[in-house]
Amino acid sequence: MKFKILSVALLSSVLSLGTASATEFMSIGTGGPTGVYFQVGNAVCQMVHREAAEGRSSGRQHGYRCSAPSTAGSIYNIKNIESGELQFGVAQSDWQYHATNGTSKFEGAKVDDLRSVFSVHPEPFQILVGKNTGIESWADLEGKTVNIGNPGSGQRGTFEVLMDANGVGTEYFGAAAELTSSEQSSALCNGDIDAYGYTVGVPNAGVSQAADGCGATIINLNNDAVTGLVNDNPFYAFATIPTGTYSTITSNVTTFGVKASFVTSANVNADMVYEVVRAVFSNFDAFKSLHPAFANLSPLQMMSEGNSAPLHEGAIRYYKERGWM
Ligand code: GLU
Repeated sequence: MKFKILSVALLSSVLSLGTASATEFMSIGTGGPTGVYFQVGNAVCQMVHREAAEGRSSGRQHGYRCSAPSTAGSIYNIKNIESGELQFGVAQSDWQYHATNGTSKFEGAKVDDLRSVFSVHPEPFQILVGKNTGIESWADLEGKTVNIGNPGSGQRGTFEVLMDANGVGTEYFGAAAELTSSEQSSALCNGDIDAYGYTVGVPNAGVSQAADGCGATIINLNNDAVTGLVNDNPFYAFATIPTGTYSTITSNVTTFGVKASFVTSANVNADMVYEVVRAVFSNFDAFKSLHPAFANLSPLQMMSEGNSAPLHEGAIRYYKERGWM
């Protein structure tokens, strides 16, 4: 009897060991459910699972399982990668830069272990304004009710940088709201807010809800403050939202923007990072077809632009194997 119990215990510990080494989980931090980060994270997981479950390319069957939950956004993702809660995340290139260099919001809180994997789509910073608000420029926002974004989001951080560059704080507005990206379009359409700021890929469901849904437009952001930001910072560039992107965009909109980037930690093992990168780039056409904001992605740009943290060794292994490095 004693022997039987022992052998059952032994068998189950062998079994659980076997399972543990066969399946490893990863979580990818994204953004609000109507944004593009959520699509990036879930597109990556879809590619990882193709290889994992089916072993499409021979010998590629692996045990990695992936989930990409909605989160507060860039800054939240970087902080949770640092603490080990998330293995990967999507983050704006400006916040990747500041985390790596210990500047801006990351002053005194440099994230030494942050590693870049690849960059993704461009993200113009957009100020959406309600149909009948009469707002046409930054100056018209004075005294208005403006959503500056939820804490932890990239747009909240970048909105604060923009206020600072314009020499104002939240008191410049009549009221400043802290709604999430999935709340702001209905708030704009209901008239609860006059405007919101959002750093996000083009096009996307959230902005379309306000632009196509209730006539909101996007204002030009090209005053001296913005020119200064672009001239003084390597991670900002002027960006255009082309005519026709949404029904209310009847001429090109000029603003400034960043890139979305896919990041991880030096503490995440190289085999896992390698398999993620391999899954994306060996199924690249399928990956690109998952969202219109991915239409112009090219592997060489993704590997070399918008990545200010050092590249993770698992990513380097794949890029070298392809002869891209
Ligand atoms: N850029 C936003 C952020 O970092 C998220 C945009 C999106 O969800 O696509 O918070």
